[in-house]
Amino acid sequence: MKEMEKVYDPHLIENKWYKFWLDKELFHAKVNPQKKPYTIVIPPPNVTDILHMGHVLNNTLQDIMIRFKKLQGFETLWLPGTDHAGIATQNVVERDLEKQGKNRHDLGREQLIELIWEWRKTKGGRILDQLRRLGASCDWRRERFTMDEGLSNAVNEAFISLYKKGLIYRGEYIINWCPRCNTALSDVEVEHEDKASHLWYIKYPLKDRKHEFITVATTRPETMLGDTAVAVNPNDPRYAELIGETILLPLVNREIPIIADEFVDKEFGTGCVKVTPAHDPNDFEMAMRHDLPKITIINENGIMNENAGAEYAGMDRFECREKVIMDLKEKKLLVKIEDYQHSVGHCYRCKIVIEPYLSNQWFVKMKPLAEKAMQVIEEGKITIHPPRYKKVFFNWLENIRDWCISRQIWWGHRIPVYYCDDCSEIIVAKEKPEACPKCQSTHIHQDPDVLDTWFSSWLWPFSALGWPQKTPELKYFYPTDLLVTGYDILFFWVARMIMGGMEMTEEIPFKSVYLHGLVLDENGVKMSKSLGNSPDPIDVIEKYGTDALRFSMVFNTPKGNDVMYTDALIETGRNFANKIWNAARFALTNAAEIDGLPDESEELIELTDKWILHRLNEVKKAVNSAYEEYRFLDVTHQLYEFFWNEYCAWYLEIIKGRFYNSDDQASRRMAKYLMLKVLDESLKMLHPIMPFITEEIWQRIKEFYPYETAESILLSEFPVSADEDSYLKESERMQLIFKLITAIRSIRKDMNVSPSEHVEIVVKDVLPARCAVLQNNRHYIKVMAKVDEIYIGDDAVKPEKSATTVVDDIEIYMPLEGIIDLEEERERLMKKLSKVENSLIKCVGKLNNDNFVNNAPAQIIEQEKERKEQLENTIEKLKANISFLE
Ligand SMILES: [Zn+2]
Ligand SMILES: [Zn+2]
Repeated sequence: MKEMEKVYDPHLIENKWYKFWLDKELFHAKVNPQKKPYTIVIPPPNVTDILHMGHVLNNTLQDIMIRFKKLQGFETLWLPGTDHAGIATQNVVERDLEKQGKNRHDLGREQLIELIWEWRKTKGGRILDQLRRLGASCDWRRERFTMDEGLSNAVNEAFISLYKKGLIYRGEYIINWCPRCNTALSDVEVEHEDKASHLWYIKYPLKDRKHEFITVATTRPETMLGDTAVAVNPNDPRYAELIGETILLPLVNREIPIIADEFVDKEFGTGCVKVTPAHDPNDFEMAMRHDLPKITIINENGIMNENAGAEYAGMDRFECREKVIMDLKEKKLLVKIEDYQHSVGHCYRCKIVIEPYLSNQWFVKMKPLAEKAMQVIEEGKITIHPPRYKKVFFNWLENIRDWCISRQIWWGHRIPVYYCDDCSEIIVAKEKPEACPKCQSTHIHQDPDVLDTWFSSWLWPFSALGWPQKTPELKYFYPTDLLVTGYDILFFWVARMIMGGMEMTEEIPFKSVYLHGLVLDENGVKMSKSLGNSPDPIDVIEKYGTDALRFSMVFNTPKGNDVMYTDALIETGRNFANKIWNAARFALTNAAEIDGLPDESEELIELTDKWILHRLNEVKKAVNSAYEEYRFLDVTHQLYEFFWNEYCAWYLEIIKGRFYNSDDQASRRMAKYLMLKVLDESLKMLHPIMPFITEEIWQRIKEFYPYETAESILLSEFPVSADEDSYLKESERMQLIFKLITAIRSIRKDMNVSPSEHVEIVVKDVLPARCAVLQNNRHYIKVMAKVDEIYIGDDAVKPEKSATTVVDDIEIYMPLEGIIDLEEERERLMKKLSKVENSLIKCVGKLNNDNFVNNAPAQIIEQEKERKEQLENTIEKLKANISFLE
């Protein structure tokens, strides 16, 4: 065997094993009726994404479940891919263009799309390479992209089938419009800028109350020509009696109602606002709620149209504003003009003020889809973890609104709808029809818009497996088993996938949803690419190793809760990896020295062996159920505690004696066997979380441990616990002995007795049975607590000048005469006592000081109180220790 390096260096092993797994095709899943499938589809990262800590957590959790299930013998598939991310990707490429002084209109649609494909080929999807560094066991041969041919076909298929069922319709919606570029803008293409402007206060006469008015305040007086209501807040007593009255809209003489809507801000202006549904997104929403007409008064090019009235039609919108103000002044309807600062949207290209514009957009009717989704959750066909999200989920689905799926950009799935230029017929089809089916005209054009990116994402779990084709993969791997994602996209994505799955495949898309928390920076802000507040995980991997990063993220993230990331977190994982490495190095070095393993006839097994077997069994039980229930934090804490505190600190320490000082070959072989067995099973349980270091050590164990024959740890079997609780009694006995050893060690520490100093111990135990256990196992105490002579009995008497401690009700005495200089030790303790007493006086003084108690934060006061208690305890203990010396 090549000796293990003294110091663990993740860089020497990580790439090696990742390549090994790929070469052996261990991540590749096949349709295999002999095995049960276990499937996860990755939440496809944007093709523009770069790995951040949120991805690290998300993908680590998925990899954990895939590896765990593979070890359990499932045919596991983790299907990777990327999302074309409409606007984000188009923006990246447009920004490149901008640097060359060009914009998308200079190129035209086809050229821009070509350019984006080119970008995707050369620069997109970098995140998938980064996931390889993270150890992700994705089936890379099945990688998909939401714009590849199969998935685009799925998108068309879904659109057409929903349209045929009457679940897709065309309706009015407010979008951003640039009157100069004559184009729709997506939200991110609108630049908001604070502008000094005015607030105009206008009197609107009440129809049925002569000489009575209501005053509205507006930043855009010209839009009053398109008002269809005036709104007040229902909780505003000033206007309560006016709700339901009719107004005669000035300049237009249209009758409009006064309505009540919670959206109205009582503090803004007079608390009365005009409602112009066709030219303001908030007013549009209000009109939907109150079923108000929407009157368009401004054309696509920013010119007033005939609906604005003959006097204003044909004017530019800002020219019209001036005239409206003049006309209102003349009619004495303008109350006042205030200076007002507010945010105005501008076109990102030509910088002119954008116009909210009512246009025809495509929608999915969500109510019927939501009902099916609620049903499968209610029936428990899909389980949500943690369950508290179920309520939020229902709440959202019950109030769901229709989904506007058209987007005014170029990169994405073009809407499969064609219009006849001659008769306006709408044709929904995968391919452009040769001629209009109604009038036979060949003048046909496709809808210029593309579909919302989520329209492909909601089909992902089945489209990635081949739907609408009835592929063997779809049949075998679908419905998938688990979806792992951050709780922040529960509605955007998870709910829609359930609806999409039920509608398109008549099946649930996944059996469980695991929602994890977000990774926050030190200020509690979600880490994201756009904020640039995530450290580069690749740098962290370079510094600490992948396993350390993965372990630490899981070790510190409670189920479903957020985690605040700092580099210090990663040290837990790094230290643990080092601990595992050193333990393995010890084990393998000793294993090499001892010939063979125990025969079946060798039943010699000591108390400590029975204890570790019992503990191992308990840990296996706990870890299995924690993995199954997605309690990943519990998995890491169980394994960490067991490996570090029980296997390393106790077991390996105790068996050293058998390796170094014993001629009993049978005992040595048994110790070697159990040392390897516990290590082997611990590595297998840890493998899903720390894949690299566990593979490296496991491959080395095989040399001395012929019970493992698989080619990779990933092909071995996950440890299962035995049903019966064997060795429970023995385990309890051993734990009592550990307590005694710990107590003796702490006397040494308190009384300044060096750990190498050999001492005598007297133990008084009045329970005969327990006393016998202690007597029979005194050798452990002798070795582990460095005790020369030990007397155990119910007749034991406290020797003079001994330190004393009590464990359960067992009294332990350590005579100090001749071991330490009693006088010197007494002086040391007295000095320490007076120091601690001084601290206590100061602490009490602080707590009695009104100034401190009244002004300090509650948390600081609490800390001070705790400190007082600690100091009092220390004083008590020091006094007792001093008394031992008298
Ligand atoms: Zn523009
Ligand atoms: Zn036609």
